[in-house]
Amino acid sequence: MENSKFKQILFWVLSCTWGIIMSLIGGIAALALIAAGYKPKRFHCLIYFEVGTDWGGVNLGCFFIVSKNSSLHTKQHEAGHGLQNAMLGVFMPFVICIPSLVRYWYRKYLIKSDKKLYSELPAYDSIWFEGWATSLGEKHFYE
Ligand SMILES: [Zn+2]
Repeated sequence: MENSKFKQILFWVLSCTWGIIMSLIGGIAALALIAAGYKPKRFHCLIYFEVGTDWGGVNLGCFFIVSKNSSLHTKQHEAGHGLQNAMLGVFMPFVICIPSLVRYWYRKYLIKSDKKLYSELPAYDSIWFEGWATSLGEKHFYE
């Protein structure tokens, strides 16, 4: 079997067993989005949806959701979180998803409440799990 095919199958097997918590949430979100008329798209071995504008993205196991016309960088980053989920499995929500979500909203709050300028915040990828997601995505999901 071709190596990349094998990796894709391994990704789905891990995502749907060890990483089932996030993939199940993603699967439910995907069904809800399809029911609401959104079209699923493919980014390498992941399935994603484009919803809303200018908010970034969220990874849900083998699925992710990004804003419309999002950059390759954003898709690579969310797909990188998908690989983290395949590796970290049941620990993913506690080690990465929840801290990442809290940090995302806390940064938004600092800017909205005029406590900080965006330029004063540390780089988004400066925390280990975000930087790791970006480097995984750039390494495995180029073009
Ligand atoms: Zn992230």
